[in-house]
Amino acid sequence: MKLSCKESQSTITSYLNTPPQLKYSTSQFFFAWIATFIGVTFPIIGVILAAILVWVWGFRWLDLELLFGMYLFVMLGTTVGFHRLFTHRSFQTSRSIQFILGALGSMSFQGPLIQWVELHRMHHQFSDRNGDPHSPYPHENNILGVFKGFWHAHIGWAFGPMPASNCCAVDLRKSAMIRLVDRLFPFWAFLGVFIPALIGYFVLGWQGAITGFLWGGLIRIFLGHHITWSVNSICHFWGSRSYSTKDQSRNNFIVGIFALGEGWHNNHHAFPFSASHGLRWWQIDISFLIIRFLAMCRLAWQIRLPSLEEINARAKQIT
Ligand SMILES: [Zn+2]
Ligand SMILES: [Zn+2]
Repeated sequence: MKLSCKESQSTITSYLNTPPQLKYSTSQFFFAWIATFIGVTFPIIGVILAAILVWVWGFRWLDLELLFGMYLFVMLGTTVGFHRLFTHRSFQTSRSIQFILGALGSMSFQGPLIQWVELHRMHHQFSDRNGDPHSPYPHENNILGVFKGFWHAHIGWAFGPMPASNCCAVDLRKSAMIRLVDRLFPFWAFLGVFIPALIGYFVLGWQGAITGFLWGGLIRIFLGHHITWSVNSICHFWGSRSYSTKDQSRNNFIVGIFALGEGWHNNHHAFPFSASHGLRWWQIDISFLIIRFLAMCRLAWQIRLPSLEEINARAKQIT
């Protein structure tokens, strides 16, 4: 499926004037709540088990390599694929690369592709206002209020109702390939923990399979969850603002590094269409480096970036 820039922009921002309904039937809500609870707590149990096994079996470099490798590929599936490609249409690419990025992003255990895109488009459309699914605002002006706002933006929102289908991703639902990637979410999620376990088994036997599952699977999911959610929570609380936006988005250097460029969140809210979130030479954006690498290999094109005039105009509005 190909979208023109004009079509993709209108798809993303224009058709939502009022917040879409967030609702489930009681039974859907129950199963979704249980699934979220398992998705959030199992990785924490995995971190504890892995720590115990390091004490019992000792540390192995293979486990750290599996954690690093799986984190990098799966996180890029989320940042380059789910976010910059599918949500914002910051660049165009081939169907096979779309499929691979969609599958990798699904391994992050952050829900199926289309639901992820719908929630994130709502976040941009209603940033820090009524209709934003995970804004930390408004909150009471005291320590408890700040904590409650932070908790909601970080993880609390995931236990609530999700947008009714067809609210904000009509463009994605038109593609049979994207619908297939979306529907296969449980399979991709399983692959995300099976692959590191399999590599661990071939190198170190059954002990390697167990620690590979824990390090490349559950610890990697734990880190991916909390670093991604930090973009929603930390980056709407703490950091600098370089550009005028209607929300409270911030640029946060630490989240910028660990979230592969996504922590330059004020830049992103100012220019959501931009394939690069780092807009200064020192704002390291590994996800954009990968998009540039894909472009060098002729696997990405129509890369959208703000002009110098647009950047300067937004910067002036904040001073
Ligand atoms: Zn945001
Ligand atoms: Zn975004």
